[in-house]
Amino acid sequence: MALLIRNLFIGLILLIVAATAVVFWNLETRPEIINYTDFLAILNKGEVKEVRLRGGEVCFTDSNGRELATFSPDIDVLLPKLMGRQVVVSARPEHSYLFLNSVSLGISMLLILGAWIFLARRQQGGKEESDFAKDKVIKYHASEKQVTFKDVAGIPEAKEELMEIIEFLKNPTHFSRIGASIPKGVLLQGPPGTGKTLLARAIAGEAGVPFFSFSGSDFVEMFVGVGASRVRDLFKEAKKNAPCIIFIDEIDAVGAHRGAAGAMGGQDERGQTLNALLVEIDGFSSTDTIVVLAATNRPDILDPALLRSGRFDRQINILPPDVKGRLKILEVYAQRVKVMKDIDLFSVARSTPGFTGADLANLVNEAALLAARHGKEAIELPDFEAAKDRILMGVERKGLIITEKDRRTMAYHEAGHAIVARFLPESDPVHKITIIPRGRAMGNTQQLPLKDRHAYSKVYLRTRITTLLGGRAAEEIVLAQQTTGAQDDLFRATEIAMKMICKWGMSETMGPLAYAKDDSGFLGEQTTLMAHSEETARRIDKEIKVLVEGCYREAVAIINQEKDFLVNLAEILLQTETLDSEELRIIFDCTQKKQAAATVSEHGEDGSLHECSTCPAAAHCTHMQEAIAS
Ligand code: ADP
Ligand code: ZN
Repeated sequence: MALLIRNLFIGLILLIVAATAVVFWNLETRPEIINYTDFLAILNKGEVKEVRLRGGEVCFTDSNGRELATFSPDIDVLLPKLMGRQVVVSARPEHSYLFLNSVSLGISMLLILGAWIFLARRQQGGKEESDFAKDKVIKYHASEKQVTFKDVAGIPEAKEELMEIIEFLKNPTHFSRIGASIPKGVLLQGPPGTGKTLLARAIAGEAGVPFFSFSGSDFVEMFVGVGASRVRDLFKEAKKNAPCIIFIDEIDAVGAHRGAAGAMGGQDERGQTLNALLVEIDGFSSTDTIVVLAATNRPDILDPALLRSGRFDRQINILPPDVKGRLKILEVYAQRVKVMKDIDLFSVARSTPGFTGADLANLVNEAALLAARHGKEAIELPDFEAAKDRILMGVERKGLIITEKDRRTMAYHEAGHAIVARFLPESDPVHKITIIPRGRAMGNTQQLPLKDRHAYSKVYLRTRITTLLGGRAAEEIVLAQQTTGAQDDLFRATEIAMKMICKWGMSETMGPLAYAKDDSGFLGEQTTLMAHSEETARRIDKEIKVLVEGCYREAVAIINQEKDFLVNLAEILLQTETLDSEELRIIFDCTQKKQAAATVSEHGEDGSLHECSTCPAAAHCTHMQEAIAS
C-alpha cells in the first residue's frame, strides 16, 4: 500500500514539473503579440530592424531589441511596405506556434508516460537495478551472531534429519559426485515457538553459509506483481551468495491453497507470488547449492503444488518438546543465567507440560527477573515456580494449560490404543505414542505398517477398528469415564465398518454385495448400483452397529486382561510424554518377562543402572538423576 502511494506521489511530481516546463518554454519562445496596426505604426516610425515571416505570422525585433509578433492580414500587401526600408527580411516555411505547442505537449506526455512505465518496470523487477523489493524484505544474517545446533535443544529427530542438509551445504561436490540430489525444499511444520526459525538459522550457522530470511506475509502486497518480483529478487540474490539458505517463515501466507480461510491479499497477487516461488524452486539446478527452508503451523491449508516432489517434498514435524526435550532446553537457557547449582531442572521440566521452547526461554528469563528483584545471587526453584504461574496466568494461551486430569485421560487413552494394538496379532506395530497435544488432536498413537499393504484382509480391518476403540475402552475401564477425546477414533472406526459391509462385502448376513449407502456418496459410482430398499438400509445400519460393537467388546476384553500393563504404560507415558518404538519394546519386554519393570515402582529396585538409562521408566526409578545426566 505504501508503495502505491509513493508511486502516485512520484508520478504527480513529474506531472507538475512537465507542465511547468511546457508553460515556461512557451513563454520564452513566444514573442509578445501586438496588433497589426501597432506594428504598422512601429514600422512607419522606422523602428523595426528585422522581420521574420512565417506563414501569416510576422516576428520582428524593434529598435529596443524587443521580440514582438503580429499577424498580417495580407502578406502580399505587407511585403512591398517592408522592401523599401532598412529592414532585414527573412522567411521560413509555415510553422505555427500551435504546432510547436502540440509537439512540446506530446514530448512532455511521452516523458511522463516513459517515467511511469519505468517505475512500473522497476516494480516488476525487470530492471537490473531494482532495489525496491530487496530493501524491504531481505535480511542478511551473515554478520550476526551465529546460531549453532548447540543452541537448539530438545528436538533431536529434526536435527538429525537436517544433518544431511548441512553436509550438503558444506560439501556439495561430495554429493554431486555420486549423483545424489539433495532436497531443495524442506518444510518445517509445528506450532509457534517450537524453534523452527531457530533451527533454520542453526543450519546456516553450522554450515557456515549466509541466511536469507523472509516472512510469507512480506510477499503479500496489494499490488499485483510485487510479491512475485520480490520472490525473483530474493532468489537472484541468493544465487549470487550460494551456497546459502533461504528461510520463508509463515509460508501459508503465500502458499495457502485457493479458498483457504484467512487468505490475505488479492487472489491474483497470491497466485502470482506462489507461481513465482514454484518457478524459482523448480529452476534450481543441481549446481545451485541453495536449500529453501519454509515454516508453517498450518500445513493443512498449504497448496498441494508446494508439496509436490522436487519442491518442499521433505517435511519435518516439530512438536512441542516432551519432558526430556524440555529439560534439555532448560539446560541451554540455564547456562546463560545464574542458577543455583543443585537446582532440580528436571522437576521444572516435569511441571511444564505443553510449554514450547519459546515458553521455556521466557520462563527462565522471568525467573531470572524475579530472582534479581528479590536481590538473590542466583535463581532458585521457587523463582521458577513463580515465573511459571506468571506465564500461565498472564498469557491466556489455550493449549498451554493442560490440567493434570486431562493429561491422565490422554495417557490412559493412548496407552489403550497401544495395548490393544500390541495384543492383536494382525496389528501394525506401534511406532510412537505421545500425549503432547497438537492442534485439536489430544494425544496420538502412530502405527507404521510393516509392509505396504495393497489389499486389506477382513481380520486386519477388524483389528484396525478394535485398536481405534482401545482408547475409549481404556478410559471407561480404568477411569470410568467417557470423553470427547474419542471423537475421531469413533468416526474412523465407523467409517471402516461401513465400507467393510457396503463396499467390500465382508458381512455374512449382507453377503458379497456392494450397497450404495444412502446419499453418503462414498462409493462414487453409486448410480450404477441398484437402489436398495429401506429394509436393506436398516439391515446395513444394524450390521455396522453389530460389527463395531463386537470390536469394542474385544478391545474391552484385552484391556481388562492387561489392566496392570495398561496402568504401567500410562503412568510411564505421563512421565515421559512420548514413547518411541524402541522404548515401547523395552517396556513390553520388561513387562512380559515379568522381570524388572512389572510395575513402575519395582523397576528402580530391580533394574540395573544401564537398564534404567535405556528404559523410559527411568524417570520413575531411583537412578533417575544419573540416567538423565548420562
Ligand atoms: P518458531 O519459528 O517455531 O515460531 P522460533 O524459532 O522463532 O519458533 O523460537 C522462538 C524462540 O524460542 C527462539 O529464538 C529460542 O529462543 C526459543 N526456542 C524455541 N525452540 C527452542 C529450542 N528447541 N531450543 C532452544 N530454544 C528454543
Ligand atoms: Zn484415540
